[in-house]
Amino acid sequence: MFTYKEYEEIIRVLKETGLPILDYSEITEATKSFVILRHDVEFSLSRAHILAYFESNHLDIRSSYFIQISNNCYNPFSEENISIIRDIIRMGHRIGLHYHLPKNNNGDIVNGIKKELDILSCFIGTPIDRFSIHRPTKLILSLDLQIDNVINSYASRYFNYCHDNNLINTNKSDIFYLSDSQHKWKFGYPNAELLEGVQRVQILTHPYSWSEMGSSSDDNFETLFMEKKHELLNSMNMECSHFPYERMKLFENL
Ligand SMILES: [Zn+2]
Repeated sequence: MFTYKEYEEIIRVLKETGLPILDYSEITEATKSFVILRHDVEFSLSRAHILAYFESNHLDIRSSYFIQISNNCYNPFSEENISIIRDIIRMGHRIGLHYHLPKNNNGDIVNGIKKELDILSCFIGTPIDRFSIHRPTKLILSLDLQIDNVINSYASRYFNYCHDNNLINTNKSDIFYLSDSQHKWKFGYPNAELLEGVQRVQILTHPYSWSEMGSSSDDNFETLFMEKKHELLNSMNMECSHFPYERMKLFENL
């Protein structure tokens, strides 16, 4: 499960519906049919980079990658990660902000988003025109946040908020929303049967879940943890000559 091969099959099914795969910026209130491909980047920019390459070079599709700047698992502003982000842009994908709601939210979400958009734009060296909210509350979704000249991935043009359930939109005349959150398709799996009759759909996937071999959620976290550990090991080793590389390598497989 969650192999690139499986992702390829999902894209094949989506293409077979005949619905156009569009960017957010190409969609207006009058757009009657579309598929939006969105990726929220948690834990690992490296995995996002691989998926972006697979999409552009193997599947010939372009999508949006939303990146966090206030998470504690990756630093989007390291030289290496900025190179990754720029490379994702070079492939023809779009970059957005994946906004992490502050724990002590003072209610000024719009200014928080604007501030982070400015910071991300500044570091990447290109304007960032879109955002998605990490773990949005029902209240925030119901607000339909608007910021001038900025795309909100949860705006009513791309997403229909359901007041009475867990975001599952079973009305095929509304915008379908499917997501692989927490390594499962809890709103439904994007297959031909489910997509039949659907005209507008937004599909959210999380690149950290996907890999060449694929795996269960637990196994995926194990390999992800190993990748991060390897990354940290090499980063510390590059940083200083007194890092006990050989000794630390002994713990690499713990
Ligand atoms: Zn998220």
